[in-house]
Amino acid sequence: MKTISNWSNAIAHVDCDAFYASCEAVRHPELKGRPICVLSSQNAIVVAKSYDAKALGIGTGMPVWEARKLAPQAVFLPADFRYYGQMSDKVFAILRSYSPDIEIYSIDEAFMDMNGIRLLWHKSFRQLADDIRLSIWRETGITASVGIANTRTLAKMASESNKPDGTTVLPGKRIEHFLNGLAVADIPGIGRNRTALLHKFGVRTALEFVRLGDGLMQRLLGRHGMQLKHELSGHPVLPLLLKPVLPKSLARTASMGCVTGDRDIMMAHLSGHVMRLVSELVARQLLTRRLRLFLTRATFEHDSIFLPLEVPSNSLKRLMAAIKSGFYSLFRAGVQYRACGVVAFDISCATTATSDLFGLMASDTRQTRLMLTVNAVNRKYGNHTLSLAAAGRVKQKSKQPRFHYPLLVVR
Ligand SMILES: [Mg+2]
Repeated sequence: MKTISNWSNAIAHVDCDAFYASCEAVRHPELKGRPICVLSSQNAIVVAKSYDAKALGIGTGMPVWEARKLAPQAVFLPADFRYYGQMSDKVFAILRSYSPDIEIYSIDEAFMDMNGIRLLWHKSFRQLADDIRLSIWRETGITASVGIANTRTLAKMASESNKPDGTTVLPGKRIEHFLNGLAVADIPGIGRNRTALLHKFGVRTALEFVRLGDGLMQRLLGRHGMQLKHELSGHPVLPLLLKPVLPKSLARTASMGCVTGDRDIMMAHLSGHVMRLVSELVARQLLTRRLRLFLTRATFEHDSIFLPLEVPSNSLKRLMAAIKSGFYSLFRAGVQYRACGVVAFDISCATTATSDLFGLMASDTRQTRLMLTVNAVNRKYGNHTLSLAAAGRVKQKSKQPRFHYPLLVVR
């Protein structure tokens, strides 16, 4: 691997730590010292947890009764995306005050173009990263981790490598050393299946991944693998998306990690997908008018159904209700399934939604005081009440793998 110059390009990745749980800790200071778990719809599954809850063995996707058994002292709160969206806006406003060029990547993480920013502030990248973390903490009460590197993939890996509340600055000359300390599974976009494939070819560390010959990389992982190889070598090929583009669709899908015919388990997976979809819609201030639900059978046949929504929405309650009714009409008892997913279509911008839709959209929310300002009205489309939303409760299945969903990577 050819050493590249230290800062031919500079990108920061800022990622809030245990975001949903941290937001809850901020508005519930009385819970200080208690592990916090944030729950999905119908309060069935843990979708986020504080670091101390994690240390007690609570995982994302764990049924709440199991988590309660592990940590009776923990508090369990329903997710509130409207509030997380507001906290997220505050964090992104702070980032924009450091560099005007940011790409919002998910509700709690963003990339920043840092080229030239040292000159503007007369500070080193390490000082800037520390300043950013401190500003976020002062203004919101939550901690974030920051990675700065030559490419977005390295910046993301850098922030991830030092959580929570850490700064990691990765100049060109330190890339090899950094990659040598990480596994291939630590590379964003390398999931379980790709890791297994790479292991078969003796590739275990991220450095071995970068050193894989182009021919073999192309054969194993195709264009995506080559892109990652360049990014990890310090050569940027994935530019920041600084202007918000309206995506044609947003998909959340995954293999369930097993073949199952259990209706409740499948509904729980779908709930997870809808939760992540809604969190991205809220973070990017987008609405969807039409969903597609699909189920993949053990035989790899697909069953799917389009689900039009009454109004453009990013309400968890509305989306979950549509998916639930679609699922019950699509699901066949006795059939074994291996994957499921949700795709949002007809995506529009929440901030330009016409006000005559407001009356209908308002039924998505309970809190009318948010009508006070235009911004508040727009935020309102992201207001969710989870207690009424529909999802299956996951029954204990000792051999079932834990549900584990990767970070939001679909653009
Ligand atoms: Mg985060």
